[in-house]
Amino acid sequence: MKISDHFTLEELSFSEAAVRLGLDNTSTPNVITNLGLVAAVMETIRTLLGDRPIVVHSGYRAPEVNEAVGGVATSAHCFGLACDFACPEFGTIYEVALAILKSDLAYDQLILEYGWVHVGLAQEGLLSRREALTKRSPWAAYESGIRA
Ligand SMILES: [Zn+2]
Repeated sequence: MKISDHFTLEELSFSEAAVRLGLDNTSTPNVITNLGLVAAVMETIRTLLGDRPIVVHSGYRAPEVNEAVGGVATSAHCFGLACDFACPEFGTIYEVALAILKSDLAYDQLILEYGWVHVGLAQEGLLSRREALTKRSPWAAYESGIRA
């Protein structure tokens, strides 16, 4: 089901880990509403990156799925408020993260991770912090800023 011009509910709630582990990753109505907000932000990012295709790695993760992949319990992914992605036709993930950092996009968290960029949105009623971080590996600590 399309939830914006270029994004579907399926791609924003697909979880390779859920399939592999046989876990249910079905979105609740509230999560679907949030994924609509994420899709709108991803459209803005897609435009910012010169209208190039976005490769989604992870969007919504049900709590059990998030736990299985070692995600933090308060992860925006569990609310359907985050997307991990790349845009290889635009450039490296570092270049993608920098382009978003330089924009005026109202994200809560922008994280340059190992293999993709994480964009998280604030919960309804909360301010977007525009916090930028770098995480170089699953076991590395978060560093402040977007770092090469
Ligand atoms: Zn993420």
